[in-house]
Amino acid sequence: TIYLDNNATTPMHEDVIEAVNEANTLFGNASSMHSYGREAAMAIEESRKALASLIDCDPSSIVFTSGASESNNTVFNIFRERIDLGSKRNRIVTTTIEHPSINELVKYLKNLGYHVDECPVDHSGRVDLEVMKTYLGEDVALVSVMAGNNEIGTIQPVKEIARLAHEVGAYMHSDATQAIGKIPVSMRNWDVDYLSLSGHKFYGPKGIGVLAVKAKAPHTPLIHGGHQEGGRRAGTYNTASIVGIGVAAALAERDLEEESKKLWTLREMLRKGIEERIPNVVVNGNQEYCLPGTLDVSFPHAEGESILLYLDMEGIMVSTGSACASGSLEPSYVLLASGVDIELAHGSIRFSFGRYNTEDDVAYVLEKLPPIIKRLREMSTR
Ligand code: PMP
Repeated sequence: TIYLDNNATTPMHEDVIEAVNEANTLFGNASSMHSYGREAAMAIEESRKALASLIDCDPSSIVFTSGASESNNTVFNIFRERIDLGSKRNRIVTTTIEHPSINELVKYLKNLGYHVDECPVDHSGRVDLEVMKTYLGEDVALVSVMAGNNEIGTIQPVKEIARLAHEVGAYMHSDATQAIGKIPVSMRNWDVDYLSLSGHKFYGPKGIGVLAVKAKAPHTPLIHGGHQEGGRRAGTYNTASIVGIGVAAALAERDLEEESKKLWTLREMLRKGIEERIPNVVVNGNQEYCLPGTLDVSFPHAEGESILLYLDMEGIMVSTGSACASGSLEPSYVLLASGVDIELAHGSIRFSFGRYNTEDDVAYVLEKLPPIIKRLREMSTR
């Protein structure tokens, strides 16, 4: 089988599995003062350092969470609370193509009456700084823009947006979940106040992530309880997963350059191969500012879900738009927000590469995909 759905999730690296298995014996509660507790706490602090090194921030900024969904919700909750308490900065600005853990949260907050603006993106899914400027003002509390899009791979000018946000006195958050291990991510260089990531997108365990919070940025826990993480996130430490995400972080940092080159090579092989072998295809997203392993393609007159299932029968696993949106048969909101025609949005497939993919995988897809598209187009009544 050929797994080309690495933006949905990745398998754990063998070093991660080994470390997690070993860390499962560290059963002491990391908050306990006795030696079992201290042993677990030490392993957690090692992991914290690895994460801080990966995203270039102080270890004290790292707050372990259950994943990027929780991290994103935590950030918005901080500002929701400030707005509830009467802050004059009562507006949040984000974009139309954020992951559902922000996008759906925004719908929820708007329903409750909060003022959230979604800055539109251009036809490549990229934020235009001039457009973003028109959304910013002294009433903005938080600006949240993802680093790289999970569906079309478009990379946002986070550093430039952070500068604009700070110019009006707002805080800046970036969901860097898809960027980790693929492009350099630096909290210091980007000058963002909050950053989210998730372990399972870079060969770490599922159900573990990070919210990095700069020392001077406001914080309020989403989950109240014990004093873990300096009171920033309650709940008994998930020691084994924290150790696992630490090992994954070290690998991601070590292999960044090599991996991103390899991912881009495979992605470009597939893109060129598809454009050569299949007529009338549209490649979505920004081709200059693009996550190296992501390729999103629309096949007019073929349904995305049908393509996915036919490919699956050949042992090739891909996704239609975002996995979070599939199951609904709705066209991708990311593509629609990028101005992609609704017909094209219905026939889109996301191929996302990872460290275990090879050139042979690409060759196999290029053998199996063209006849599938041809057959589906012949069956299509459109
Ligand atoms: N943000 C982005 C950009 C993502 O791709 C994902 C995972 N699909 C998340 C957030 C959520 O991560 P998790 O499911 O681990 O909470």
